Amino acid sequence: MHRFFTSDIQAHTAAVRGEDVKHISRVLRLRIGDCVQLCDGQGNECDASISAIAPDAVTFETQPWRRAKSEPDVSVTLFQCLPKAGKMETIIQKCVELGACGFVPVQSERCVVVLKPPYEGRIERWQRVSEEAAKQSRRGIVPVVALPEPLKSLDFSAFDTVLVAYENEHTVSLKQALRSGAHKTIAIVIGPEGGFSEEEIAILTTRGATSVSLGTRILRTETAGMAMLAQIMYEVEP
Ligand code: SAH
Repeated sequence: MHRFFTSDIQAHTAAVRGEDVKHISRVLRLRIGDCVQLCDGQGNECDASISAIAPDAVTFETQPWRRAKSEPDVSVTLFQCLPKAGKMETIIQKCVELGACGFVPVQSERCVVVLKPPYEGRIERWQRVSEEAAKQSRRGIVPVVALPEPLKSLDFSAFDTVLVAYENEHTVSLKQALRSGAHKTIAIVIGPEGGFSEEEIAILTTRGATSVSLGTRILRTETAGMAMLAQIMYEVEP
């Protein structure tokens, strides 16, 4: 069933505006009475049938709202050091499918790409990738892509667990770190193509991060976040 995000919600009705109107009426050619799934972007969803189609809005009659089944119990935010051009889109798309709840692009020492302000255009594009992936994978939220931050000023106070994937960590595995307690809000930090400097790892661990190994093989930066997310979900999902 087609799925749309909306915040225009009343007691038994809801409306979708903007780009989605054309998509519903012209591309999908949905008609009055057709059913879709609506999502409020806060983790709630409902079944709904189209009651009116106007040029600027599609109105729905809504069934009772329920918690979206697709939202994981654990909230994982990916702090991704900026990869080479084009890779961030793939990372965001795949990690939304895998259950990430938010993204923070990070500027670190060895990033080949240096983002210069204004960031808004780039962030909007990444946010659209997140929304498309959220619709496709039936997420209950649209994970937010934050403004880029320098590694040296990252703040992890909102997280109960911070894991930095470090290719030179040979003692602590991701599995061990995950099994050492309960986790509700996890930050994962992935280095760029060139990896982290020792100084950066020192900064991150001083701020409470645990450095973990993802195994004996070196993964590309775009693979590391996906692999880590999949393993976190495997470990914590029922
Ligand atoms: N240039 C580095 C590798 C960087 S890989 C080298 O050749 O050694 C890019 C990022 O992916 C790393 O900074 C790390 O965050 C993550 N990563 C890749 N493989 C990893 C592994 N086996 N364990 C932990 N992190 C890994």
